[in-house]
Amino acid sequence: MSMFAAEDAGLARMDEMLGAEQKQPQSTVGYREGTPQQSCGVCANFLGGEDAMCRVVEGPVAMSGVCDRFEQGDGDDEQVLAADAV
Ligand code: SF4
Repeated sequence: MSMFAAEDAGLARMDEMLGAEQKQPQSTVGYREGTPQQSCGVCANFLGGEDAMCRVVEGPVAMSGVCDRFEQGDGDDEQVLAADAV
């Protein structure tokens, strides 16, 4: 195992510990191309960030994608991140 693989595994574990629930693989939530009205970019579960992470689905995800766990949000990533930090 390379050092980077070990780091990835560590980050994945940290992600799990921080999450209230285990993230689901994209293949089990019907991840697909979204619409302007329904997409990760306006989903309440979208955490944003460089890696475009989602609160409930394994990432990275695309702003233009969508899945069966979509929840209408306000599309303001900074607000979502700020609420998450509280
Ligand atoms: S729950 Fe689905 S639609 Fe919402 S951000 Fe995550 S992957 Fe995108």
